[in-house]
Formats: sequence, structure tokens, C-alpha cells
Amino acid sequence: MAEERITEGVKCVVNTCSYYKEGDLCTAGKIEIRPRNAKSSDETDCATFEPDSFK
Ligand code: SF4
Repeated sequence: MAEERITEGVKCVVNTCSYYKEGDLCTAGKIEIRPRNAKSSDETDCATFEPDSFK
């Protein structure tokens, strides 16, 4: 179960992530974005993402 600690400054719309909270908030505490040497925002992803099995 994800902690209810909002990661400040992060807006995330990935509502299939276990850390996602209504209002486009992230509760992971900290996040990691990959990959190195990305050329555009389309190439970047949140590596902290974990599928929410309850959705
Ligand atoms: S861990 Fe990543 S994908 Fe999941 S809610 Fe936070 S920012 Fe979004």
C-alpha cells in the first residue's frame, strides 16, 4: 500500500500507478526518471512506476 505522503512539485496523470493519488498527485516520496540521454519528453518515463493491481 502506498504511503499518503505527497511528492511536492510532481504532477502525474498516470492513474494506473500504485503511487498515484486523485488530483494528479504522486505519493512515492521520491521518483526516478529515465533514461539518460533522452532526446525529448516523449522518451522519458518514471522508473518508480508500479502497476496498481486494484485498478
Ligand atoms: S511513481 Fe511515477 S508514475 Fe507513479 S504516480 Fe509517482 S510520478 Fe506518477
